[in-house]
Amino acid sequence: MKSVKDLMMRQPDEIKGEKLYEGKAKALYRTPVDGVMLMEFKDDATAFDGKKKGTIVEKGYFNAKISAILLRYLEECGIQTHFIDQMAERYHLVSELDMLSVEVVMRNIAAGSLARRLGFEEGQVMAYPILEFYYKDDALSDPWLNASHIKAMDLATDDEVLCLEEKGRQVNEYLQRFLQPRGLQLVDFKLEFGRDSEGVLILGDEITPDTCRFWDVGSGDKLDKDRFRQDLGDVEDAYKEVLRRVSQEVPLCG
Ligand code: UDP
Repeated sequence: MKSVKDLMMRQPDEIKGEKLYEGKAKALYRTPVDGVMLMEFKDDATAFDGKKKGTIVEKGYFNAKISAILLRYLEECGIQTHFIDQMAERYHLVSELDMLSVEVVMRNIAAGSLARRLGFEEGQVMAYPILEFYYKDDALSDPWLNASHIKAMDLATDDEVLCLEEKGRQVNEYLQRFLQPRGLQLVDFKLEFGRDSEGVLILGDEITPDTCRFWDVGSGDKLDKDRFRQDLGDVEDAYKEVLRRVSQEVPLCG
């Protein structure tokens, strides 16, 4: 097998090589093609630093589709991503990246840890989208970072930090333009980036209701992992509804 086309003609199990990573929500495997990885979307879910564990039926199926649609859309907007193609129902072929240990969180509306930490009412609209960095380290519970921590800890260069800020804000604009006309308010979300073989920063990971907060524009109903975190019920229905909405063909606004 020499190319992505060859990989696409097989079943995921036939091209699964060494498992490089397995978390609750995803697993990552090598494939026979250099630089191409297989990402599996799983049904398992965790919250509160892994203290709450569970399964969301068909989550892997919904998330693989949702993330494929949103990453393809971002590519069309000119944001380079690791996404190559979707395979079977729960798999993406993705480009190999050297992932940064930094998460980029963008926030348009106060919720979650922002509301807890700074005393905002949940639902308060931010006068300016907030960009935050977090250190990916389970043992430290993914602490908050600023640019000088990133520099001191050598997690990314100054230019890369600028690039993360620029891309985080661009992705926020593009996603809101896509989601708003589909009745989804983008409250906040997390992105992860990695370096390609030339050292260029590329958007990796996933964009799903596991990693974003989506509220229904009309009712404010939560259509994301908060339904699992907060035991709100109808968790699967929320993921299914997000897939239905992002699959709709509607004109872009703005
Ligand atoms: N998030 C994520 N992975 C993490 C932490 C946060 O995908 O390890 C997402 C989360 O789903 C939300 C946003 O980033 O959309 C902001 O999360 P927050 O800091 O409010 O943390 P939480 O309330 O989830 O503990």
